Amino acid sequence: MRLPPALLAALLVIPLVPHAVSADPVAPPAPAVRDFGNGPERNEVAADVPERAEARAAGQSEQPGSLSHDRGYPRRTRLPVPPENPADASIKLGLVPHHGIAPRLNDLQQRGDRVSAQVLGRSYGGRDLYLVTVTAPESAAETREQERIRDRIENDPAAAARDRNLVKRYKAPVFVNANIHGNEWEGTDAALRVIEELATSKDPKVADLLARTRLYFNVTANPDGRVSGVRQNGAGFDLNRDFVTASQPEVRAMRQIMIDVQPVTMIDLHGYVNGTLIEPTTPPHGANYEYDLFIQNTYANGLGMEAAVNGLGYTVEKDGVYPAQIPFRDSAEGWDDWPPIFTPQYAPFHGAVAAHTVEIPLRVNGSDYTQQPVEELRRRSAINTDVAAAAIRSTYAFVRDRHDRLIADQIEVFRRGSAGEPSKAVGLGIVPGFGPEDVYNTTFPRAYVITGRRSEAAAARLVDHLIANDVRVERARRAFRADGRTYPAGSYVVDMRQPKRGLANVMLEAGADISPRVDAMYDISGWSHGLLWGAGVDGVTSLRVQADPVKAAAPTGSVPRAPGALALKVSDAKDVLALNDLLAQGTAVTWAGGAAIVPASARQAARAVSERYGVAFTPASGTASGTPLSQVRIAAAASADELFTLRELGFAVTPVSTAALNAGYDWSGTDVLFVSSGLSYTALNPAARAALDAFLTTGGVITRGGTGAAFNAAAGLLTATAVAGRGDANGVVRVLSTGGQVGGGSPDHSFVYSPRWFTGLGPEVTVEQSYAAEGPLVSGHWRPDADGTGGQDAARGQAAVVSGRDERGAAVVLFGTEPMFRNHPKGLFPQVAKALYWASSVTGAAVKG
Ligand SMILES: [Zn+2]
Repeated sequence: MRLPPALLAALLVIPLVPHAVSADPVAPPAPAVRDFGNGPERNEVAADVPERAEARAAGQSEQPGSLSHDRGYPRRTRLPVPPENPADASIKLGLVPHHGIAPRLNDLQQRGDRVSAQVLGRSYGGRDLYLVTVTAPESAAETREQERIRDRIENDPAAAARDRNLVKRYKAPVFVNANIHGNEWEGTDAALRVIEELATSKDPKVADLLARTRLYFNVTANPDGRVSGVRQNGAGFDLNRDFVTASQPEVRAMRQIMIDVQPVTMIDLHGYVNGTLIEPTTPPHGANYEYDLFIQNTYANGLGMEAAVNGLGYTVEKDGVYPAQIPFRDSAEGWDDWPPIFTPQYAPFHGAVAAHTVEIPLRVNGSDYTQQPVEELRRRSAINTDVAAAAIRSTYAFVRDRHDRLIADQIEVFRRGSAGEPSKAVGLGIVPGFGPEDVYNTTFPRAYVITGRRSEAAAARLVDHLIANDVRVERARRAFRADGRTYPAGSYVVDMRQPKRGLANVMLEAGADISPRVDAMYDISGWSHGLLWGAGVDGVTSLRVQADPVKAAAPTGSVPRAPGALALKVSDAKDVLALNDLLAQGTAVTWAGGAAIVPASARQAARAVSERYGVAFTPASGTASGTPLSQVRIAAAASADELFTLRELGFAVTPVSTAALNAGYDWSGTDVLFVSSGLSYTALNPAARAALDAFLTTGGVITRGGTGAAFNAAAGLLTATAVAGRGDANGVVRVLSTGGQVGGGSPDHSFVYSPRWFTGLGPEVTVEQSYAAEGPLVSGHWRPDADGTGGQDAARGQAAVVSGRDERGAAVVLFGTEPMFRNHPKGLFPQVAKALYWASSVTGAAVKG
């Protein structure tokens, strides 16, 4: 889980004395607050994560394996056993360390014929991810039949719905995801316990269960975090915020499980909320789900899990364990299922008709991990494991009892999508307490058309992302017209009459401004691949086109035939990668206002990177010159997602912080300083400040957010006053790009989290981008603060990104937007790159020998 600091303090007061019996009235459970992680507080500490991202950006990323459909079950795979690691953080809690999982699974595979384990992929830190399948033995032919049925449910749902025998023959898939937050450990131990019970049970009810279901366990979704005792993976990412972006290998593995398995029900095991928190959620509810089906099943399983957890007999007085809570029933708002960034909010698009976050009760992480006695920690972990195991057992019993209906409802989800039926308004009272505040709907277009009108490379990325998410994409054979517009041959088409149209729409639609409907949101409220990923995306109301299905986007690179100098306009992350590759080769490149000029003599190198990254060179105009550009070496006081993104773009990045600079930092290898987290100019000691001031006479500075704005003011860089919008405001905003260095050619939309704008601009300052006069929020949540300030209206027309040369000569760019947030807004990354190239070319790099 993650907690806003204020609420964290409130939760910490829950009294818990081991085995203490108290006659005093106990405090009521804290209100349901969701773990709040990668938002504003990410600015507190500069990230310093290993540089694996660089290797991954070069194409070495671990792609998840798939489930074979050509072999029966069991599949006894001898899992490699990692070396023993006495520093594994699980050990203190008496839980299974990561190196102990493979031996347990190897043993369980040998002890019967019900357990199959496989390595599905690797974490960012290189640790194995284990998928365990528990089911009754199947011949290869039986497995193929199961796959045929699964395929039919997805791809021919109308026929599947008519086939009365289908549900009888099909083994309902159930997905248990454990430990996605590394320091919420016990889901893993509960999964291992339940796997062992199922593997060895002589109970005929278990045999019946395994004959009618397949149970899939992702034993630990985040082994890096489990071992280190932290929430994030080895790259510093919160995996349970990454499902729309899939920047991390662990998330790509989970995504593949959900696509291959197509679970009817899933649970995601977290901690810690006392009493155990069990979804369904409060409003707002995601508008792209078939929510009538979802809420009925999810609430029913939620009530079952509640009864099972309360039935364990733990009490407040004896154990410090409060009764379970269900946010949908027990809270008004603040624990919503609006953004599809969480596992249970992503799974429904692949057919899960019941999906839950479960927060087990007793905190063992954070300050408790370091301060509580080991005995007390182990007492809590034992209870947590019991609770998580009860939730798993209750869920598989639910699927056994509701087997036919869950499958029928999954078929119905895909049928509505394939038929292109309108978004269905859920009837009030469909479950007790379902009121007008719970009703959220969307409008599906007939299709989306994706073009490369801004960048062919961006269109290709979006198409490949959709396909990786099991969304069907086609390519137009000839030019066609839709809604009064002509689209060229080769345009991509996403026909919304498809089983996973909900997933297609939740990514491609603009989204909605939900500020009027709710006050408190749990995490982000806006995202949009359609508006933020740099491709041209249009929803159209009619579709008459000859198009062929594609398995991948077509290659995009090109180099003009005519001899002469070449231009590479930086309008996509792939352009940045290509340019950084050329610079690393020592190619003599100049920078001219948003484009790189490559001399005719480097045509060979240009052709190579064009093919490697799919980027398009154009002829450079005869007079184009520009300023010499060399590799940009960055010192970054940045959050983990920004560090990851900068490295993914091919920049050389050295993490820095206040402490690092105070310890003595050699600036001679740095061209540009990036500041967004963990660096305070006023907290620098005199020597560090003098060294930084000296750097500022030759180097450039890029800043983002409040920490960056404070740095600008304290270091006396640009004349600009940063004004803060409401701290939790976030979403997609309309912007107007005007500046020549960063803004020109940028998309018409940007992303903000804790938005800022700049007033009182000095004559040296240029407005690169401003918030639109309308809105500016397109989708997300942005209300004013209690005193009426900090709202959207205050930001209208104000400068969002500014640039300038300070009086020492340093080139400076200030971002009030969030161009690299969680690696999501791909179409905004070039703005940061352009800021870096400009700052580097006009200051330090230009005069470097
Ligand atoms: Zn969690």
